[in-house]
Amino acid sequence: MVDERARVSLGYFPTPLDALPRLSETLGGPHLFVKRDDMTGLATGGNKTRKLEYLIADALEQEADTVITCGAAQSNHARQTAAAAARCGLRCLLVLGPMAPPETTGNLLIDDLVGARIRWAGDRDRSVVMEEVAAEERAAGRTPYIVPYGGSNAIGASAYVDAFEEVTRQLLERDLRMDHVVFASSSGGTQAGMVTGARAVNFRGRVLGISVDEDAETLRRTVLELTEEIKGHLDLRFDIDPDTVRVNDEYLGEGYGIMGNAEREAIRLVAETEGLLLDPVYTGRAMAGLMDLIEKGAFSPEENVLFWHTGGTAGLFAYAEELLEG
Ligand SMILES: *Cc1c(COP(=O)(O)O)cnc(C)c1O
Repeated sequence: MVDERARVSLGYFPTPLDALPRLSETLGGPHLFVKRDDMTGLATGGNKTRKLEYLIADALEQEADTVITCGAAQSNHARQTAAAAARCGLRCLLVLGPMAPPETTGNLLIDDLVGARIRWAGDRDRSVVMEEVAAEERAAGRTPYIVPYGGSNAIGASAYVDAFEEVTRQLLERDLRMDHVVFASSSGGTQAGMVTGARAVNFRGRVLGISVDEDAETLRRTVLELTEEIKGHLDLRFDIDPDTVRVNDEYLGEGYGIMGNAEREAIRLVAETEGLLLDPVYTGRAMAGLMDLIEKGAFSPEENVLFWHTGGTAGLFAYAEELLEG
């Protein structure tokens, strides 16, 4: 692939690839491994760091001085964007919502520490509010750059094509083969990049997104559309079989950001067996789904399953009381 994409260095790559022997044994299931994208290093890390290396580069190319993005109050994406902006000397405005929670903790605390300004969206559409904020910035003589929700456009999502190539090299070096890759999927960028990357390297295994907030059909459509945009952006000529976009929406529980028993138990088990921290919104839910699928016999004990840790651990602190209740 000819790669002329502008990129700023924000994270530490390759992220580690580790075995999870004690968790695998406890679950009596397949051989579990983890790809540590929680260790990308940007103010506690996460999958958005990869996307932001390209998005912030694009902002700098456009001579922006202000970055605007949006998300939930405990958005990991907003926190990583704010930290990336700080590192690159850009102002950052976050449209979060709907409302300010009673406590400034977790990601919200980090947003504040890295100097981001916050606008609460209330019941209004966050994209509309972002446009308004951008207009205000322009009126004040500044040059704003809007990073889309989740960093999930072709520029951002293309980073997960690289990420899939990165893990492919790691597997080759270790003479390992993965039969499945499982991770939390939400705005679809991570999954679209991975599906495209998997196709680019002729990955033989299956890529499975566990949806955290969207029904499977909606998320599949979003991911498929994004794969087309990524292909255009990177000038890739192959076709992607729509059947390779696999989404499981059986683990939505009470809805986005609402931690249930399944997430709590997954977070505790992984912490107790491997000393590894998951998060309440994304990776806890994806791991709970993976554990349920293992219990239902979806994998054979000889198979290798890669759990792609997408980050979010800063969010743990916003759920401390609920985690301790269990
Ligand atoms: C944003 C996020 C995801 C989902 O990634 P998408 O590209 O939006 O699908 C998963 N895990 C964590 C921790 C995230 O912050």
